[in-house]
Amino acid sequence: LVELEKVNKRFGDLHVLKNIDLAVFAGEVVVIIGPSGSGKSTLCRTINGLEAHDSGTICMAGKPLPTDGRNLARLRADVGMVFQSFNLFAHKTVLENVTLGQIRVRRRKRAEAERRGMALLDRVGVAEQAGKYPAQLSGGQQQRVSIARALAMDPKVMLFDEPTSALDPEMINEVLGVMTALAGTGMTMLVVTHEMGFARRAADRVAFMADGEIVESGAPERFFDSPTSERARDFLSKVL
Ligand code: ATP
Ligand code: MG
Repeated sequence: LVELEKVNKRFGDLHVLKNIDLAVFAGEVVVIIGPSGSGKSTLCRTINGLEAHDSGTICMAGKPLPTDGRNLARLRADVGMVFQSFNLFAHKTVLENVTLGQIRVRRRKRAEAERRGMALLDRVGVAEQAGKYPAQLSGGQQQRVSIARALAMDPKVMLFDEPTSALDPEMINEVLGVMTALAGTGMTMLVVTHEMGFARRAADRVAFMADGEIVESGAPERFFDSPTSERARDFLSKVL
């Protein structure tokens, strides 16, 4: 569903993505782990068109990523993205947050958008908060709203960039629970996380990134129990 071939990205002299080859098949959950600065966020941002790549190809459902404005908006709807920092619209209510994109990008009628929005808020367990503003919610609730907002666009794939890193410990599990349930519905997911327990349980495949490269990738059991690269062994010895 998402295919990257020899993707390169530089910020000036810094080579942040080096010949990245990665395929995420429909229904698959791929977890990316790796040290800080290895390029994980840049990879996510490149896949949903927030960042342009310098060379190589990225295909979504067999088609190269669009680069012009109007099609980029559609791409960002097709590729739901959840950030560490929630990124909700602060001056809009929770319900407005999950309906605006549906109305503007998916061209749904308000009533239809609200019906779908409420169903999704209910699914992630925050329906009672629909009339509140983001600042009135806990971090875990805000993150669940941003998951609902992305899902409201009927994305083909969901990208999560360290969705629980900004959360207090007791809120991490409620967000991981929503993500695990989503994986169970067959959603295609690419997840950057430091939650190794989640990676082991929910991933079909784990990719380890270091210095802009995917150093190794494989089934979670194989990766966690017998990593083949020195860098992965070193990383795991620090985080496990
Ligand atoms: P973390 O685990 O800390 O989130 P990461 O793996 O997500 O790290 P990136 O945020 O992708 O890493 O950054 C990779 C490298 O690219 C870093 O050295 C970072 O400083 C650099 N970088 C990221 N964005 C930019 C930018 N817009 N301009 C210049 N350099 C950038
Ligand atoms: Mg990052």
